[in-house]
Amino acid sequence: MTKTTYRKANSLEAFLWASMGKSAQITISTQQTLSDLLEIYANGHHGKTDLYRDVAARLSKVARKEPAWKEDYIQAVAVGTKTPSKRFARAVEILAATIDGIPAAIADTEPVLIHARPGTVQPGALLVGESVNCHYPPCMIHFIPTHPRMIYCPLHRDPKTRR
Ligand SMILES: [Zn+2]
Repeated sequence: MTKTTYRKANSLEAFLWASMGKSAQITISTQQTLSDLLEIYANGHHGKTDLYRDVAARLSKVARKEPAWKEDYIQAVAVGTKTPSKRFARAVEILAATIDGIPAAIADTEPVLIHARPGTVQPGALLVGESVNCHYPPCMIHFIPTHPRMIYCPLHRDPKTRR
């Protein structure tokens, strides 16, 4: 056993990582693709450092790199003052390729207006569960249960409220 152990290819990233081998090239396109990634992930970040840190973490995860790349490395590659390592270039290509598959997952969905406590649901989040109408006959509230046995809305959870 070598010191580096690769986990089983149980994810798309791992599969791509293995299949791409050493074929990825460091080109100007790494900088371009990284800039595209930064744009894609820009939503919901407080400033550039926060965004760089997030993308650095994602790329490090893809490349199984520890310690992770730092945010200033991301920034330097993005602005073109640093030539990325081969490993980094591969991670960028893999992350971009994986993102290309994501639209398929949301292809048969539609945007729906929902109400949520502030900060609990990211705008555009993909909802996996289904909403149900509160089982209390007069109630018209629809909600998304967090448990299969949750059949009453928060207003009517207490039996005393269902007379
Ligand atoms: Zn109700």
